[in-house]
Amino acid sequence: MIGLVIVSHSAKLAEGVCDLARQVAQGKVRIAAAGGAADPENPIGTDAFQVLQAIDSVYSEEGVLVLMDLGSAVLSAETALELLGEARQSHVQLCAAPLVEGAVAAASLASAGASLAEIATEARNALAGKVAQLGTSGATPQAGAAAEDTGPLEELLVKLPNRLGLHARPAAQLVRLTRRYRARVTVANATQRTGPAAGDSINGVLSLGARRGHELRVCARGPEAHDALTALADFIESGCGEKEKPGKDIQDRLPPPLASPSQHLLSGIPASAGIAIGPLVKLRPAAVELTPRAIGSPEAERQRLMAAIGGAQEETRALYEWSNAHLGADEAGIFDAQSLFLEDPELIGGVTRMLVEDGVGAESAWEAETSKLSDRLKALDDPYLPARAADVTDVAARVLRRLTGQVSGLRILWEPSILAARDLTPSEVRDFDPAMALGLCLETGSASAHSVILARARGIPVVAGLGPGISALAEGTIVAVDGEQGTVWISPDAGRVQALEGCRQAWLAARGAAEMERLRPAATRDGRRIRVLANISGVAEAAEALACGAEGVGVLRTEFLFLGRTAAPGEEEQVAAYRAIAESLGERQLSVRTLDIGGDKSLPYVEIGEEANPFLGWRGIRVMLGRRDLFRTQLRAILRAGAAQAVELLLPMIAAVDELRETKAMVGEAEAELEREGLPFRKNIRIGIMIEVPAAVAVADQLAQEASFFSIGSNDLIQYVMAADRTNSRVAPIADPFQPAVLRMIRQTIEAGRAAGIGVALCGELAADPLATPLLLGLGLEEFSVSAPLIPELKRAISCWSVPEAESVAHEALAMDSSQAVKRLLLGAVGARLRGPSPEP
Ligand code: PEP
Ligand code: MG
Repeated sequence: MIGLVIVSHSAKLAEGVCDLARQVAQGKVRIAAAGGAADPENPIGTDAFQVLQAIDSVYSEEGVLVLMDLGSAVLSAETALELLGEARQSHVQLCAAPLVEGAVAAASLASAGASLAEIATEARNALAGKVAQLGTSGATPQAGAAAEDTGPLEELLVKLPNRLGLHARPAAQLVRLTRRYRARVTVANATQRTGPAAGDSINGVLSLGARRGHELRVCARGPEAHDALTALADFIESGCGEKEKPGKDIQDRLPPPLASPSQHLLSGIPASAGIAIGPLVKLRPAAVELTPRAIGSPEAERQRLMAAIGGAQEETRALYEWSNAHLGADEAGIFDAQSLFLEDPELIGGVTRMLVEDGVGAESAWEAETSKLSDRLKALDDPYLPARAADVTDVAARVLRRLTGQVSGLRILWEPSILAARDLTPSEVRDFDPAMALGLCLETGSASAHSVILARARGIPVVAGLGPGISALAEGTIVAVDGEQGTVWISPDAGRVQALEGCRQAWLAARGAAEMERLRPAATRDGRRIRVLANISGVAEAAEALACGAEGVGVLRTEFLFLGRTAAPGEEEQVAAYRAIAESLGERQLSVRTLDIGGDKSLPYVEIGEEANPFLGWRGIRVMLGRRDLFRTQLRAILRAGAAQAVELLLPMIAAVDELRETKAMVGEAEAELEREGLPFRKNIRIGIMIEVPAAVAVADQLAQEASFFSIGSNDLIQYVMAADRTNSRVAPIADPFQPAVLRMIRQTIEAGRAAGIGVALCGELAADPLATPLLLGLGLEEFSVSAPLIPELKRAISCWSVPEAESVAHEALAMDSSQAVKRLLLGAVGARLRGPSPEP
């Protein structure tokens, strides 16, 4: 037989409720009271031991339902449950039902033979009858609710004129208007027969699925009911604060056009060429991981939740203010709606109920309730509301992140999208599926940030340095990314979409044409052979490099073997990885660059410490010469992997001849060790150096005496020559590869290499820019190393020039005194030879 326990601060009340319930149960349910405190001086209160005894007295394995009044009654019941012991706990449920109605409902269903779960549900919903009769929503009562529940019920019917229905922005305004009145307001969709929903609940109002032409039944009770109804009727009839705008099809999904043409466009740094159009997805940890932890009392969990919601409210408010100032009130409205989600009484009420009733933690309760809500929105037959479900997910994750302290982790993409993020790490970009990640919009960064390099390598158009504007756009907004111009079009109109689509087709066609030539060796128009190699960071990319027509690998960035783990890979693991790549390349060259950690890449097991200027600090060869254990292992692994393959060593961040000599001495020691151990290895390995520090350029003639080859790392060389951090979008215009100072450094390096008879390659991003092709060819560069997908286009660009033509362009460019002048010259020279049409901004 099911048992029922009634816990109250008052012994009399507990007994009285038991009497009522017993009458309903007619002897078929065991019912016990646990009312009042044990202290005769202070009889009003609750006592966990009394609750325990009461549970014991009615216990059976069929189950016991415990109903409580308020405050410490809940705590006493929880304590009693803990004292009960594990075996019995699972048969006892604490229920958040209203005490009197819940007890009667529970007794009635229990006497009919229902299960504990069914009885608990019935008890929880025990207010429904009263709510239906009195015409209120059952939302969590607010302060002053009592006054609002008095007076006659007034109602009226009003037709919704809004083209996009009652979507987030008008719904938010309706909720705000409702809250101004001392009245209990409900809204129902009379056409669809959905609702009623509390007028002060954004979630409730959105869930009505109200579309244009639907009739809304608005009811109000309370001292200001009449005024509230009049104001709401006017508000709804006049379009809920929205002006009508023409549009159809996809335009219907878009937010209303912005106020002025300039607001349609965000400008940033062109970081990876290409055009992509699609819905915006903001990257953040959508699925915040919930890890098990000790759960506090319902009150403690509620307080944690409220603090997290408060923090998320502040974040949302900042986004609102930014978009209001930069994009206008329409765009900002979405954040107004988001902040209403956060304070929605139905949502908070539901979560609080779960905390008390199910004894779960704040994270689980919040996640469960918000998921329910977004599922409800997704299920509505409305093309607009799924995007609002994404808003709920967005805002819910903001709270969850605060509760769990998690800051990273990327959401999974379900449809091809344009991604927006503040910044991304290289490994995050590596994990993207290019079929889903159509384009990338970054608040920060520059064209030579490692994450952007990787995106470019994966053929994803990128605009960097856009500022917070991009993240302030609503989820689902259609945007067009032009990675070549560095522009992002917000909600482009049909004409713009068409123009951009034309450019996209031209871009794809140019790529297609280049594809056809990708397997031919690169050569200038007059037949000079140019070596084109790939920059890669893993085995899979080696295969891709060959497929794209690479003649070998100019740089294997070995960081990727070391990133994302808690300890360095051992020698055998490294040998296996390097060997796999070398073998997949067959006879072709593989330049393995030793670990280049520091700057914007860090490892948990390599202590670098706090640095004011990481790029000027402990980085590249400096770290390795300081961590000889790591260096020795890597050198041995590279030597061993090259036993039967064309492997070379490449050293990053060399600034002085000493560093090269010290490394060569270590290579000598590693060779001697391997010899002694009888392990096969590459003898007389070629040792090249990256030229990426101005000091190395200054002594390039001396370095050329010691190095087997140079590889110009223009990404770093530019930042060090121009003193402009490569990850700082603010100084990105200064870090321009066409700065005369940079060009002179490149010329000086090529000349020093040529004078010493050693090869010079360029492996920075500049190598892949078709604008730079004649310049680099003209300066005498004979080896380019670029991201694999860019190889076909580079080969095509090379084939467009004869050596004398390129030399003349380079000669003129080197005489210019500004990067703008250089670019103007190059644009004129390259002109229609390579570039497709660009859309007018
Ligand atoms: C460079 O600096 O140009 C280079 C190729 O190295 P990374 O981008 O890995 O620093
Ligand atoms: Mg570098």
